[in-house]
Amino acid sequence: KRQPSRERRFAVFDPAMHARALAEMELERDLRRALERNEFLLYYQPIVSLADARITGFEALVRWQHPERGLVPPDHFIPLAEDTMLILEIGRFVMGEACSQAIKWAERFPNPPKINVNLSGRQFVNSRMAEDTSELVRQFACPTSLINLEITESAILTDTDQALAGLEKLHAQGFELSMDDFGTGYSSLSYLHQFPFDNIKIDRSFVEPLVREPRTAAIVTAIIRLAEILNKKVVAEGIETPEHLTVLQQLGCTYGQGYLFSRPVDASTAEEMLTKSPW
Ligand code: C2E
Ligand code: MG
Ligand code: MG
Ligand code: MG
Repeated sequence: KRQPSRERRFAVFDPAMHARALAEMELERDLRRALERNEFLLYYQPIVSLADARITGFEALVRWQHPERGLVPPDHFIPLAEDTMLILEIGRFVMGEACSQAIKWAERFPNPPKINVNLSGRQFVNSRMAEDTSELVRQFACPTSLINLEITESAILTDTDQALAGLEKLHAQGFELSMDDFGTGYSSLSYLHQFPFDNIKIDRSFVEPLVREPRTAAIVTAIIRLAEILNKKVVAEGIETPEHLTVLQQLGCTYGQGYLFSRPVDASTAEEMLTKSPW
């Protein structure tokens, strides 16, 4: 009698695969429970004007306050949330929370910061994405001008025509749009002039080697010039050192964010920063 090969048995009963599947099921169950128990919250990272360090906005970054594991970063749960479509519900929480915060700050500060909200590609699969988003923002009575939507290139790849239609509607409704992680995709350049983006966020993978690699400096210079020609604002991500800041200023970059200015912080710490800011 033929014995099944060792490889074949392992393909069927791979204990590592089994463990991974179990861990994913557990995480999915925990994510559903987290939504019911309101365990998600937003952290805020300042986006500043590089010339004078004035805070012009905050990027809202979701966190999961897990009862045992503590504060869980998005990289640990967003991918599974996308696979299971739970990202749609998390996305609605994030937008609602960002709107409430934006209104509070608009009431307190004469020159209110914009809040940047990250959108997942999964949110773009819905052809009513633009309508749903505006409806949600309207429910919170939040002016669309206070919200900046961050979209990565990969998010618009699945259905580029539908994404373009959705983004044009959002732009027409007064949302600002940012192309996130610029430079990491395959066709960033072609999307840049087709899509109604107001801002380009240069990915931090370009900022880190900027000081020691002339080639990287050349690429970043080209991105900044191109943005000027296309009339778009440039935000550099991942500014960690005074050297990064100096080089970016020399290259003519106007806005930035990164640990040099502040890590993402909770809402009350962010508000304290606004209070202390001379503007
Ligand atoms: P992102 O949108 O590109 O956000 C920037 C990430 O870079 C944040 O990580 C931020 O904490 C980190 N960062 C900022 N400054 C520095 C720096 O100077 N050095 C370094 N090394 N990192 C810096 P975070 O909060 O862990 O978020 C990771 C990603 O998760 C985000 O990348 C975004 O793609 C996703 N994400 C976060 N919140 C949401 C959300 O509400 N919805 C969706 N769909 N995705 C989200
Ligand atoms: Mg972002
Ligand atoms: Mg980014
Ligand atoms: Mg990113």
